[in-house]
Amino acid sequence: MSPTFALLGLLAVSVPLCNGKIYEDPNEIPSLDSYDYVIVGGGLTGSVVASRLTENSNTSVLLLEAGGSHQGVYYIEVPGLQNFTGPGTSYNWNYTSVPQVNLLNNTIPAPRGHVLGGSSSINGMWYTRGSSADYDRWANVTGDQGWLWDELQTYFEKSETFTSPVDGHNTSGQYDPALHGTQGPLQVTVGGYSQSLDQLVMGRLDEQFPFIEDYDDGEPIGFGWTQTTIGNGSRSSAATAYLDNYLNRTNLDIAVNSLVTRISASNGSSIDTVTLTANGIPINVTARVEVLLAAGVFNTPHILLNSGIGDATELSAMNIPVVHNLPSVGKNLTEQPAVSNLWNTSSPVPAAEAEAAYEQALAQWNSTRTGRMVLAISNTVGFARMNMSNLEVEALVEQYGELAPGPASPHFELLPTVNAFDAEANFANAEFILDAVNLVPYSRGSVTLDPTNPMGNPLIDYNFYSAPQDILVMRQAILGALSFVSTPDWQEFLADPVSPLFAAVVGEYPNVSNTTMDAYIRASTTISFHAVGSCSMSPAGADWGVVDPDFHVKGVKGLRIIDTSIMPFAPAGHSQAAAYVIAERAADIIKAST
Ligand SMILES: Cc1cc2nc3c(=O)[nH]c(=O)nc-3n(C[C@H](O)[C@H](O)[C@H](O)COP(=O)(O)OP(=O)(O)OC[C@H]3O[C@@H](n4cnc5c(N)ncnc54)[C@H](O)[C@@H]3O)c2cc1C
Repeated sequence: MSPTFALLGLLAVSVPLCNGKIYEDPNEIPSLDSYDYVIVGGGLTGSVVASRLTENSNTSVLLLEAGGSHQGVYYIEVPGLQNFTGPGTSYNWNYTSVPQVNLLNNTIPAPRGHVLGGSSSINGMWYTRGSSADYDRWANVTGDQGWLWDELQTYFEKSETFTSPVDGHNTSGQYDPALHGTQGPLQVTVGGYSQSLDQLVMGRLDEQFPFIEDYDDGEPIGFGWTQTTIGNGSRSSAATAYLDNYLNRTNLDIAVNSLVTRISASNGSSIDTVTLTANGIPINVTARVEVLLAAGVFNTPHILLNSGIGDATELSAMNIPVVHNLPSVGKNLTEQPAVSNLWNTSSPVPAAEAEAAYEQALAQWNSTRTGRMVLAISNTVGFARMNMSNLEVEALVEQYGELAPGPASPHFELLPTVNAFDAEANFANAEFILDAVNLVPYSRGSVTLDPTNPMGNPLIDYNFYSAPQDILVMRQAILGALSFVSTPDWQEFLADPVSPLFAAVVGEYPNVSNTTMDAYIRASTTISFHAVGSCSMSPAGADWGVVDPDFHVKGVKGLRIIDTSIMPFAPAGHSQAAAYVIAERAADIIKAST
């Protein structure tokens, strides 16, 4: 970042640094034994549940967050600056995967938010619910009809208020108001700044790539207008939506800079104690009713394993005393693999012009909360099914069955973005990216402890392409991307592919050999940022899985998991809308049980 941008950023800190009931030092937590619930992790789900439980003034909650407060952090607030919260910053856990055997032993980033609001404070803000069949499958797998799509509509609505975009454009036909909430804390909108790319995408749509008015209708096939968690030109996170307005509640305390290391049972039978460290000194907090884990897909299993809850054989091998043998902890890690297809554009914006545009956009946001900086990434997104009459797809389906959970559920996503200037101020590039994402991954990875340092970073193995069908779907997704840009308008817009491996694929299109395609995929696959499933739900009483459908950890008293680690399958979209729904339902179930 140039010094000018840094200065603009500092001048523009817009949220007053009043911390209300947010304790910066965990030593200041007023009481260590008087809370009904202690929630571990002040991220997306933890913030929602803390907020909902304390609607009842008789219920007290302590919310513990390892990172700092989100308040006053410019890079979190400005949608267009999201990359400044990326790896290498204190807002991020900065994890990396273990070498991926099916990706030429490359390691892949594993970012997660390390700040109040968690990953909702640093994410790309896309709001997509997935398909109705995704949630119906959760209901079938767990035997709990409460997870059915139809049953969950009340929670989608409860969490959300759909707001007008800041440019005031006519949104008719860009989303369906009947599908959205009007009273919820989370603000969702469509893009408040138009780009020439929008018309190029919309002008391409036809029978193969149809238009969809609102992809949150449960049958998301087609290209539509992107919905994002943005309101009044600023990021709407779980922290801004569910915490900031409720800091005056006397029954809610929040402590940041509070790294939880383990949980335990003071009486030997029911989990009630949370150990956190403040400047290296351990502090024990006890919950009168329950401990709720919301540390996210990587850290919830990390805490459980370090507390002796996990596979007994693996724990014993690391000399960790076994509290409860639960072999599924950390297993079933699910992530949607993505390949960013990157072209130079035929009319690149000169670097000086792009830099000037960037500065102008920041200045405009600082003064009016409008302009390019109110955009998350891009205004359009598409979801598609594989071409079932293609011979290779026919063979794939014959061998593996239908991979999506239902006939109106997509197999892949295409995400168009243009970098006339980008949030990393990478001005020399004027690239077009068409991300291809496999939405139906069957590979399952794991989160385990590092035997040389169990308290250190978890070992994260996405295990990409261990299920052979996943790379076959990725081939189809990339062919879909190339088909999308095959029209004359697009060919005029695009120049050469950026990498030699991608150039080889484009050169062979439409008859790309599997050798050329797979060489590209294995060298280029990365994450889509939607890891879930490391502590999956299963039916009550099942001898696999980690939690029952009511969030209780199997065989352990006093403990629930309320975060995205409980998803048995990833929804066919981005994960945060599902995370808000999980948390809203968890809060209702917990309220009903007290
Ligand atoms: C870079 C990025 C981009 C993304 N983009 C999108 C997007 O555009 N759209 C979308 O739908 N989804 C997106 N996601 C995913 C989405 O944000 C997550 O699925 C969602 O936030 C997960 O919610 P959670 O509560 O399970 O975990 P998190 O929101 O990650 O919260 C976990 C919290 O627990 C805290 N914590 C962890 N360990 C400890 C500990 N030991 N002690 C105390 N606190 C702890 C963390 O600091 C964090 O605040 C993105 C994620 C990332 C990382």
